[in-house]
Amino acid sequence: PSFARRLHKTVRKLLPDCEIRFIRSEDGSGKGAAMVTAVAYRLDAQHKARQKILEPFKLSHEQLLEVKERMRIEMEKGLGKETHEEATVKMLPTYVCSTPDGTEKGDFLALDLGGTNFRVLLVRVRNGMRRGVEMHNKIYSIPVEIMQGTGEELFDHIVHCISDFLEYMGMKGVSLPLGFTFSFPCQQNNLDEGILLKWTKGFKATGCEGEDVVGLLKEAIHRREEFDLDVVAVVNDTVGTMMTCGYEDPCCEVGLIVGTGSNACYMEEMRNVELVEGDEGRMCVNMEWGAFGDSGCLDDVRTEFDVAVDELSLNPGKQRFEKMISGMYLGEIVRNILMDFTKRGLLFRGRISERLKTRGIFETKFLSQIESDCLALLQVRSILQHLGLESTCDDSIIVKEVCTVVARRAAQLCGAGMAAVVDKIRQNRGLDFLKVTVGVDGTLYKLHPHFSTIMQQTVKELSPQCEVTFLQSEDGSGKGAALITAVACRIREAGQR
Ligand code: ADP
Ligand code: MG
Repeated sequence: PSFARRLHKTVRKLLPDCEIRFIRSEDGSGKGAAMVTAVAYRLDAQHKARQKILEPFKLSHEQLLEVKERMRIEMEKGLGKETHEEATVKMLPTYVCSTPDGTEKGDFLALDLGGTNFRVLLVRVRNGMRRGVEMHNKIYSIPVEIMQGTGEELFDHIVHCISDFLEYMGMKGVSLPLGFTFSFPCQQNNLDEGILLKWTKGFKATGCEGEDVVGLLKEAIHRREEFDLDVVAVVNDTVGTMMTCGYEDPCCEVGLIVGTGSNACYMEEMRNVELVEGDEGRMCVNMEWGAFGDSGCLDDVRTEFDVAVDELSLNPGKQRFEKMISGMYLGEIVRNILMDFTKRGLLFRGRISERLKTRGIFETKFLSQIESDCLALLQVRSILQHLGLESTCDDSIIVKEVCTVVARRAAQLCGAGMAAVVDKIRQNRGLDFLKVTVGVDGTLYKLHPHFSTIMQQTVKELSPQCEVTFLQSEDGSGKGAALITAVACRIREAGQR
């Protein structure tokens, strides 16, 4: 007994900050071996259970090829006159037929609606020796009540922001050509017209679907009776991105967005754009690929978690491809998996906290942070702690794996879609080999540590006959709208001469 007492006393003296209890073990060597075995057994069983749940997220090369093929089929349906109506990937004509040639110049206003932020921009395009683009912009918030209120309120708010911006720039009363980046599916019959087919990404303002958004904007401008604007172009952000990169690299014939949502556009042969008269030249087609899968053609790839996230979203059943890829949804998929793990006692010691049950707490930016290579596990734990999730070291390893699996699948699916696009361009031109550049925008693509690498690898594997360069666009949706407006003005002026 005195040995034990002395030992305890010494240890406590050496570690005054620790509270230490000594418990006498009974038959440590026998029982202990059994305990070690039991724990290892449990850990192994739990590991297997988790792997089984994650299995459907791991897509094989064959599955990805299949996704590419199905995308191709849906693209044909969207382009075809007879099949367009029922098609889910709408392949919308944009009336953008020419890319910048560097001779554009002038001052333009641009609006950017449809991303996280609403912005008004003033863009100065110069040609000749001082060729380049200079921009000023201001970000405005759109309160949820307005996003989901009436269309009149939404457009009055937009016009209010334009007015504020003109005042801020000291340009009240100046009338400039305006490009409107409106990143929702629109049916266009002209460059300066866009009939909203349906809201996506959290917008829900009433009385807009089926209406020409340029008309709605003009009406709001007239209601305010303060200034007039010449709306020259309605532009999708994918198209703006393609144009922005096209200004630097003439090989850029594809645009891709991986941000809040996901979408792509590319230059299609006019003869294939059956919705528009004429067979000469090319036109940029806004694919609206986010809706890929809405016909059910991806049901074998979707998991129960995708279904759960979809069902609780603002637009159930819609934008199924987008919901597996983009920033608005990846965090939610991860949260749903973590909940499922916890319910089964495979994570967080089986305790579901109120926090974990809260929709939206797991933002997609956490996927980037958690997967960041230079992050120690301790930091993962502190991110989780910040979220109100108490975790052990093992828990943080598991959370990290879930993030990896979900982001990896997103990048691969996006790559499979892109592979379909570039291969179609190659076949359109009857080439054995195509070199093409894709202009990309979107915070998820730009900031996630592995997304772009995995996506590019996937495109390479699925479309070996294409050499695809990815170019990050700088502010595609703002600059692009101005460039398209500039090109349109250049062509208009040439026509008047
Ligand atoms: P938008 O697509 O709305 O124009 P962004 O391209 O900035 O705007 O994308 C916003 C989306 O990016 C948000 O949905 C958010 O979840 C996601 N996001 C923000 N930060 C990060 C990050 N660090 N890593 C990955 N995704 C992010
Ligand atoms: Mg954007």
